[in-house]
Amino acid sequence: MTIHKLADLADSAACPRLVVKVGSALLVGRDGEPRRAWLAALVAEIAAMRARGQEVIVVSSGAIALGARRLGLAKGGRGSLADAQAAAAVGQIALAGLWADLFRQHDLTAAQVLLTLEDLEDRRRYLNVTATLGTLLAAGAVPVINENDTVATQEIRFGDNDRLAARVGQAAAASGVLLLSDIDGLYDRDPRQDGAVRIPVVRGVTAEIHAMATGGSSSGLGSGGMTSKLQAAEIAELAGMALAIIDGQPDAPLATAFGAERGTLFLPRGRKRARKAWLGGKMRLRGAVHVDAGAAQALARGSSLLAAGVRAVEGAFQRGDAIAVVGADGRTLARGLSEYDAGECARLMGRHSREHEDILGYAPRSALIHRDQLVLV
Ligand code: GLU
Repeated sequence: MTIHKLADLADSAACPRLVVKVGSALLVGRDGEPRRAWLAALVAEIAAMRARGQEVIVVSSGAIALGARRLGLAKGGRGSLADAQAAAAVGQIALAGLWADLFRQHDLTAAQVLLTLEDLEDRRRYLNVTATLGTLLAAGAVPVINENDTVATQEIRFGDNDRLAARVGQAAAASGVLLLSDIDGLYDRDPRQDGAVRIPVVRGVTAEIHAMATGGSSSGLGSGGMTSKLQAAEIAELAGMALAIIDGQPDAPLATAFGAERGTLFLPRGRKRARKAWLGGKMRLRGAVHVDAGAAQALARGSSLLAAGVRAVEGAFQRGDAIAVVGADGRTLARGLSEYDAGECARLMGRHSREHEDILGYAPRSALIHRDQLVLV
């Protein structure tokens, strides 16, 4: 069974494993205190899903917002990175305690997992996360995940839990990701404008879909906004997962959205092999190679990328780093792990494979990016 409509996300056959992401503005009131009654109702809904045989992973924001209040920091703790890190250190304890308390009332055990971007970008650490989540779920626990904001510095942080939720879903081989937002989906223009229409189903996050997003978090408490939700939808799509945005504000948000089919559902593309899905979701690309039309066609047919079709090299990447493959029109066609560093790529570009050994002075690799290490986007 696959996912065709929102309510399928609550069906244990169509969606045996679901990630539910809860944003700061839902969890924390304007007074900086947790919205306990609302959260208790959501936890009851998640407990009911568990009872029906669905595995649920929670991705919870709110550490910074909760901690900022306790430390008396301005701007909700988001005035500087140091403030955010300090606020998260204080708020995360409260946040984890809250989830653990509420799940315990349903005889469920919460498990705190704090991740950084690097934990999911590095293949070995990613597989470790996969294994840990699998063990926790098999043991009946509910993982409650947040970014490890206290140690994550600007360059190495997700910054928003929307993409974190998508990456976690991918690492856990989930079938769906549900983003609880302060709006009931994606609108065809700024939802405050007259005549704005909600898009119920999206098949492919195209440039046209991106143009509908209006930017930052409207509440000011979180850091997401529609842009990061669409990036999350792209990661999900490549990983073969459905992703939905629903309004988290009602008292029983899941039943409300599923009952009325109210939200935006991004349909998955075919599920990729696990390694390719990981590659497709990688967010830090170290450089790019620009290719000609012939190479672009060869890639579309499933071939490896050869140096002969490369026209320019960008960035200072090492062998094994993830890089983008950019077409003549400037669009990213694929991403993959480079077999050479940037200097070698520059020396080999435009040159036929039989010349490579002379240019390099050692036995060349079969391609610049091997097809097994390449994913079309
Ligand atoms: N990790 C942040 C927190 O717990 C939230 C990130 C976001 O707003 O998405 O406060």
